[in-house]
Amino acid sequence: MEGIRLRTRSTQCLEDVTEQVADAVRRSGVEEGVCHLFVPHTTAGLVINENADPDVGRDLLEKLAALVPSDPSYHHLEGNAHAHIKSSLVGQSASVPVTAGRLALGRWQGVFLAEFDGPRERELKVTVVAAGVETQAATASKGEGLTDS
Ligand code: ZN
Repeated sequence: MEGIRLRTRSTQCLEDVTEQVADAVRRSGVEEGVCHLFVPHTTAGLVINENADPDVGRDLLEKLAALVPSDPSYHHLEGNAHAHIKSSLVGQSASVPVTAGRLALGRWQGVFLAEFDGPRERELKVTVVAAGVETQAATASKGEGLTDS
């Protein structure tokens, strides 16, 4: 597991972490498997969406702000209830297939840490799991059994 640390730039923003995640996958040496991503925060989240046109992210943040406005009507007294709700709406985790040692994202997809109560230090946990490891282990132990008998 690797932790990608970053300082978000503003109160609400999408930080493109696609390259950092791709680097973590390369460092793992896994050729085929799954890259699991997790944001361990309650006022930030994880978004996989278009990274070609930055207006897509702008629209997302603006619509989330319209759906969940920052106003004094919430029970949570810390003043960031809207950020907790947005974090819950977008979610904190995602899994991306790893194929030929690379993230198998769609052509227009990028990975973003979604900040809803920044700017602040954030972390994204990256776990890359190889496919078929247990199967290989099971095959190996079966093979040993056959050799012994
Ligand atoms: Zn809070």
